[in-house]
Amino acid sequence: MLRRLTPFVLLALWMALLWIGLDWSQRPPATVLPRERDVAYVDYFARYLLPCLPVTSGFDYPVRPPDAKGALIALGFAEENHLGEDWNTALGDKDLGEPVYSIADGWVTLAVDFEGMWGKVVMIAYRLPEKDASQLSVVEAMYAHLDTMTVKGGNFVKRGQPIGTMGNVGGVYKAHLHFELRDQIGRGLGGGFSERQEGWISPTDFISTHRPASTPTASLQAKPAKAPAAQRAKWGFDG
Ligand SMILES: [Zn+2]
Repeated sequence: MLRRLTPFVLLALWMALLWIGLDWSQRPPATVLPRERDVAYVDYFARYLLPCLPVTSGFDYPVRPPDAKGALIALGFAEENHLGEDWNTALGDKDLGEPVYSIADGWVTLAVDFEGMWGKVVMIAYRLPEKDASQLSVVEAMYAHLDTMTVKGGNFVKRGQPIGTMGNVGGVYKAHLHFELRDQIGRGLGGGFSERQEGWISPTDFISTHRPASTPTASLQAKPAKAPAAQRAKWGFDG
């Protein structure tokens, strides 16, 4: 009896397997959602945010704008591998609270108190005209060691708008503005100093060659003063 049933049992099993197999084959493939780390912010910014930003109509200096009259740089760009400029308006901490201004019309990408060695940091993206001689589409400025911040991430800012005040990070330094300019957004905080300066731009050189069209001829040559190396300790710098 059992032996006679065997072919039928095997047939039923084969049909069951076939049915299950067909059923599986009809299921849609599992959808693979992109993981968070697959979304590159720099690409997202270039594609979706940058086209929405105002195009800059020129740059002024971040301290004592438009011409930086009365401002002084204690440690310049590329000096001792410095990735920025250390701006002052008075000796020691006498410039604590000196207003700091946006160098152009832009969009605040970050305004965070990192404490530690950086303190309060504002970063602003500036969209350049398409025919800019620098061949860049955007530059990002970093305003660091601030005592106060008066903008938030996502704010639109105008050239010459106050964004905060010069600080000393709770006494870590003598008050100054550590000011960097980068050739793209998303380079992060960085280390402030590096033997390699690719990606970082000399702020004063860039600003002096990108002044607004309305700038009086006499102001086009304006540049912040430079402190002799021997006097740096009297001013504020990252040392
Ligand atoms: Zn610095």
